[in-house]
Amino acid sequence: MCGIVGYLGHEPASGHILTGLRALEYRGYDSAGLAVLGPDGVSVRRRAGRLHDLEALVEAQPVEGTMGIGHTRWATHGAATDANAHPHRDRSGRVVIVHNGITDNFADLRDGLLASGHAFTSETDTEVIAHLIGLELDAGADLASAVGAAVQQLEGAHAIVALSPDVPDVLVAARRGAAGGLVVGRNGEASCIASDLVAVIRHTHRVQVLEADEMAVVHADRAAQITDLRLRPRTRAMIDIPWDPLSIAKAGHKHFLAKEIHEQPTTLASVIRPRITLDPIELRFPSFRLPMPAAEIERVVLVGSGTAWHAGLIGRDYIEDFAGLPATCEIASEFAYRAGPLSPRTLVVAITQSGETADVLAAIGRAKRGGATVVGIVNVVGSEATRQAGAVMYMHAGPEVSVAATKTFTSQLASLHLLACQLGVARGVLSQQELRHHLAALAHVPEHVERALTCEPQIEALARRFHRYRDFLYIGRGQAFPLALEGALKLKEISYIHAEGYAAGELKHGPIALAAADVPVVAVATAGPLRDKTLNAVEQVRARGAPVILIATEGDEQAGATADEVVYVPKTAEAVAPIVTAIPLQLLAYHVAVWLGADIDQPRNLAKSVTVE
Ligand code: GLU
Repeated sequence: MCGIVGYLGHEPASGHILTGLRALEYRGYDSAGLAVLGPDGVSVRRRAGRLHDLEALVEAQPVEGTMGIGHTRWATHGAATDANAHPHRDRSGRVVIVHNGITDNFADLRDGLLASGHAFTSETDTEVIAHLIGLELDAGADLASAVGAAVQQLEGAHAIVALSPDVPDVLVAARRGAAGGLVVGRNGEASCIASDLVAVIRHTHRVQVLEADEMAVVHADRAAQITDLRLRPRTRAMIDIPWDPLSIAKAGHKHFLAKEIHEQPTTLASVIRPRITLDPIELRFPSFRLPMPAAEIERVVLVGSGTAWHAGLIGRDYIEDFAGLPATCEIASEFAYRAGPLSPRTLVVAITQSGETADVLAAIGRAKRGGATVVGIVNVVGSEATRQAGAVMYMHAGPEVSVAATKTFTSQLASLHLLACQLGVARGVLSQQELRHHLAALAHVPEHVERALTCEPQIEALARRFHRYRDFLYIGRGQAFPLALEGALKLKEISYIHAEGYAAGELKHGPIALAAADVPVVAVATAGPLRDKTLNAVEQVRARGAPVILIATEGDEQAGATADEVVYVPKTAEAVAPIVTAIPLQLLAYHVAVWLGADIDQPRNLAKSVTVE
């Protein structure tokens, strides 16, 4: 998810690299670094913090040379520290690399290298890759073959650019797997490489895009050679790119929110895929250990704020159902001052995207003072919550730029599902057969989400019809109740329309007084034991004139017949249905806000991470 740049030409490289990184900063921003090859060898500058911290360092300690690589990091392995910032080298300094991606088999590769005497200066998976390339170079390979051979050993999706003082006129770029874009451009005087177009268009409109499992050997004064990872040539046409950097940063979408909604098949694959093998059935947590013996846990309390609290409400059910443990879910700011009795046998699961949410940090503090053990579910590596918690499970959703959370909500649900499975297995409550059922369902979620996204044209039309209403009710039961809360929150946040989420069974205890022709109801009635009851509530509001948008499971025509509009989501196992059902709710809020002309990525009065109580 991070930003990568490479420059190879006749002008000082560091200025070009820093400008390229500035253009890519939206991709990740916890630390940055560069390496430049000059007359005295390779100079590396790295700094935790924002890009201006690196700029200040380079100003104080300039680097000389006309070729180099740079990186703005979004940490996945190891906190955002100077030592973990890229570039990383092999043990003899023969290769320096920048890297975008997650090495799924990191632990195995690192253990193998440690056993054969390698030592590491960082906690990153990237340094392991540099060592693998170094081993190939030591065995006599040239830079391109060494990179190709090392990259073939990596599981997961990656983009890498390598530089070696042994070959002062070449950069080698490689792409492994389907994620981690890389483009190469040349303008007659210089060549450049970047993880996306936005950093290249200053130099040229004409680029070549690397596909999965391809490499480029890049020179200053001639076109790049594109090959597969075994150095077999590939032909790649030049494409002309438009001059609209911001739309490029948004991957062609009008807003970061739309980009992030559409990214979910990929972000979900990143959180799910490395942790599951289906044959034999296994849960793998390379970098997560339960911080207390599972048998000692007496109860679980989940805490979060906003969207994370909604995810926690669904996670509570996962923990009760899969692990047989009593679980509750609390609003972090409430829990911090009203935690009730806690004990060393209480496991508190703190959910926070940024890891800096003041209310969640206060809740963690309260949990620890009460003697409880804390697991964090966090997106930003090395953030305060990761330091406070006894163990951390990362969401691996990549940077979320838009203030309204979307992809981190679904990553939180997937993480909670996995955590509940792990607790169930560790406590001996979940049978192998049940585990297989749950993991197989989760493994298919990215495809189902991909399919759920195809409802967008229909949602756009609905948004056109409904955007002028000033009040909405969202209803659901069971796991659809937190979804109703989340759907209403999204609409409030980005369109400023008043919306309330209610448990459908509660309607008759008050809110049905609101049902009227000018209050549309969004009802979530996907397949499950509570579907019929939710449809009863739909009948009740329709009888009072409220227009209803129903979210139902594909094939459920009977449910569809009860509403004015029905949006179908793919059929999944019941436990994972909330992940897939979140998609139309996110899209509806987004398109209503588009119709209203709202400031979607930066809604009024809100901040991305709320670092004050
Ligand atoms: N996995 C690498 C790290 O943690 C790269 C992360 C990135 O894409 O920025 O340093």
